This record gives sequence, structure tokens and C-alpha cells, in this order.
Amino acid sequence: MPLAGGCLNLANLTIWNKAATAKMCWDLEHKQDKLWIKWIHSYYIKGQDFNTYPVPQQACWMTRKIMSSRVVTTQLHSDHTSSKSLIRQGYLQLLGDYPRMEWKRLMFKNDARPKDKFMMWLHMHGVMRINDRLIRWGMEVNPECAFCQLQNESREHLFMLCYYTKALWNRVMQWSARTYTATYSWGQYVQWAVQNSKEKSQDATIFKLVFAEVVNAIWLERNARVFEKRRRHWEALAREVAFVSCVRASVGSRTKLQQLHF
Ligand SMILES: [Zn+2]
Repeated sequence: MPLAGGCLNLANLTIWNKAATAKMCWDLEHKQDKLWIKWIHSYYIKGQDFNTYPVPQQACWMTRKIMSSRVVTTQLHSDHTSSKSLIRQGYLQLLGDYPRMEWKRLMFKNDARPKDKFMMWLHMHGVMRINDRLIRWGMEVNPECAFCQLQNESREHLFMLCYYTKALWNRVMQWSARTYTATYSWGQYVQWAVQNSKEKSQDATIFKLVFAEVVNAIWLERNARVFEKRRRHWEALAREVAFVSCVRASVGSRTKLQQLHF
């Protein structure tokens, strides 16, 4: 599924195979200059109407599979003037409409490390194993926030509302010459991130990178406190985010980041 649909841009191979078989079926009907196609025409079809010719049961599995996908081929509209391959055109048509995620921009052209982008992707989908989810699943865990021990851990508290994460966001945004807008709901938080990553400017590129690094830093620090009983000050996390961002940024953004004073 495409990034725009909030996915990781990995092809759905079942649908891709369907489209590839439909393309072979289209070839079988139209491109009679290939040896295997000539053979099927002269051995089975013998000048009869391709679309109504029954699938020959004595034919091999592959031939039957290709001819059976005539139903799919008739549903697809191929545009031969398009630069996209016929298989890709068919794939996109078979995929159908999918909801567009407004935070998709955070994933496009983000210089962050792949594992941090993946973490951000989980974060935006709200599927991280945060305590309130684990409790809903019936697991017995300490519900308290690992940073403040004053509130229960939820995605809103952990990433937006806790004093620790607020301080981290403020420090990192201040360093990257951005303003951190305090948010009180998940919707507001996503809007803030989307708004800052919208422009096609270097600032937006830097924001996307820094955002992914902060999300990852919060999550790693939370895990270190829960599982290893290790703790670091938010200032140390902010410094690490700044360092990683400077290292990972593409050439233009790196020059700009290196001019910022931490
Ligand atoms: Zn807290």
C-alpha cells in the first residue's frame, strides 16, 4: 500500500500477482507475435473468439490461470499512453480507493534513520505498546507514566502532556528555530506535526527529521526506564536528537542545522 494511505509503500503481492496475470491475459489476446502465445492460439483457440472460448481443462495450470483472469482484464482500463507499466496500472486499479492520511508528509523524504521512521509510523498509527493499550488487552502492567509517575501512561500523556516530554519538545524546537505549540488532544498534536511538515522548504525537511528523532528518543527512554531501570535527563535526550539530526540531515539541511547553536 502507498505511503499516502498511511502504509509503508510495500506492494500487496496478492493483488500484484493478479495484475501481472491479467497483463499476460491481455498479451494473450493482443500480442500474437510471441512463441508461447502463437502456440496457445494454434493449439487451443484456433481462431475462435478469445473472450468466449472456454478455459481448456486439459491445458497446463499456467495457461488455465492466465485464461481465467479474462474477468479481471475486462474490469481494467489500460492507458497505453501512460508511462506507468500495464501491471502497475492494473495494480492501482485493483487496489481501489484508500483513505489518505494527512500525516503522510511526515514519511515523505524524511532523512531520519529507517528504524526511527518506522517508529514514527507506528506512533502515528497509534499502535505502540503503551500501558493503557496493554491494560485494555488484559495485561497486568504498572499503569503509571515512567517519566513522572503522577499520571497513567497513554499516548497523549507520554508524547504530549508529560512535563518531561513537554520540556524535551520545547528544547528541541527551540534549538531548531521552531515554536512548540502545546497540544492537549491527539488531533491537535497531529495537526501541529502536519502543519510544520507541509511546506516544501528546508524548514519542513528539518522538522520531519527532528520529529521522528524526538518520537524515537521518547520511546527509547521510556523503555530504558521500564525495562532497564536506567534514566536520563531530557536535556541529554535533546542533545542526542540534535546530534543525530545533524548527522542524518541531507547536505543542504545539515549546513543549516550545524549553524544552529544548541
Ligand atoms: Zn508523565
